[in-house]
Amino acid sequence: MTTTPTEHRATRTKRLHDVLAARRRVAHRVAEVASLDREGLGRWAESALARTVAHAQRNSPLYSARVPENLAKAVATDPEAFRSVPFTTRRDLAAAYPLGLLAVPLREVTRFDESSGTGDGSSIAAFFTADDWIENNLIVAHLLSAVLDGGDVVAVAVPYELAGVGQDLDRALELLGCTIVPLGAASPDCPPERMVRALRRSGATTLICSGTRALLLGEVARRGGLDPARDLAVDKILTAGEGASPAKKALLAREWGASVYSMFGMTETNTLAMFCPRQDLHLVETRTYFEIVDPATGERLPDGQTGELAVTTLAGRAMPLLRYRTGDTCRIEPEPCPCGSPLRRLRHRGRLGDRIAVGRGWASQLEIEDVVLGALTRPPYFFAFDVDGPDLDIALPPESAADGRIRDAIAAEAERRFEAGTRFGVLDVPAFEHALRTSAKPTMRNFLRPPGRRTP
Ligand SMILES: [Zn+2]
Repeated sequence: MTTTPTEHRATRTKRLHDVLAARRRVAHRVAEVASLDREGLGRWAESALARTVAHAQRNSPLYSARVPENLAKAVATDPEAFRSVPFTTRRDLAAAYPLGLLAVPLREVTRFDESSGTGDGSSIAAFFTADDWIENNLIVAHLLSAVLDGGDVVAVAVPYELAGVGQDLDRALELLGCTIVPLGAASPDCPPERMVRALRRSGATTLICSGTRALLLGEVARRGGLDPARDLAVDKILTAGEGASPAKKALLAREWGASVYSMFGMTETNTLAMFCPRQDLHLVETRTYFEIVDPATGERLPDGQTGELAVTTLAGRAMPLLRYRTGDTCRIEPEPCPCGSPLRRLRHRGRLGDRIAVGRGWASQLEIEDVVLGALTRPPYFFAFDVDGPDLDIALPPESAADGRIRDAIAAEAERRFEAGTRFGVLDVPAFEHALRTSAKPTMRNFLRPPGRRTP
């Protein structure tokens, strides 16, 4: 049977209508869930959890092999049965790469993202259907609207390569009517100097990047004769891609004359937590189910206790994840936030693997950063560290290293918090800065560790 040109056009028009109707359904669903109160959200999460487990058990190769059918059925009638669902680890995701977690036919996939993430460097994949992706964009837009509106010019300095975060933010910002300045991260075509010029020329009001990149951009601006607080219009910094210590946030606020907000997510899970107008961090419970578990026993811990964050997707069809152990040390705040949001608040305490034996106990990279950046009083705000038995080795930029008050402040705080001794060295600032410039995810990691030293 042949189709006439008129019929062909009618088919194409119908397809367009179907696409628009599907988009509208997603938007309605997002708006409905976003308007729920705490109680409604709890009920919605219970039924969404049962749907996710059933979908994963039926359609995801990994979970079909791992979750018995009768367990999926039990979750539908008894939410407590969910605790018997086995955990998923990053190792599982790496072993399933690339298609072992795909729960829809490949032709329904709109995006294929990848992460080498914070694990051992092995790749893991992340998939989205068109509905998953749009739902994600809408939810992020709703959350960003806590502090952004159509009048904002937003510079996005996060990776766009193979990771969804840059594009996801762009779509969400477009929905809010913001002006986007897509800076990317660590591209040779857009080095920090060019980023600073773009911030200035665009009149950017908002900068989205990791806290460490914001420190680097502040340093580059100053070197070019600009005071970020006085000469740039940025009054909001939204940090993503790494944890930021309270000292780093305070430093950014002071240096840029900006309010600093945090968000938290991963390529494989998307946005997990987002700031509120009070600069607190709320769990995105409208698309993910959160548990805090004992890292050793896997036992679920009540709100208020610190443990490992485990997440279950409630919205994504393409790649459902069940009880995925994120490797992040977190606490869920039991009290509601004064901002009025029904979403619970997250306290992020760093990565499990970042626990460093120092002095008489343990510290995390974030805590060490808090001590050092909290004491620095002049730029550049860079440092590197290493641990040598009971002592912290800290390398500071030459001027800070020569300042006895800064050294004393760091030593006293390291003693107080970690019962650790401190030794100081001079940071090779150009080499350190080169490492920051060429990394898509710059952090203050101790990557300048002198050769031969033991790894903490
Ligand atoms: Zn809040």
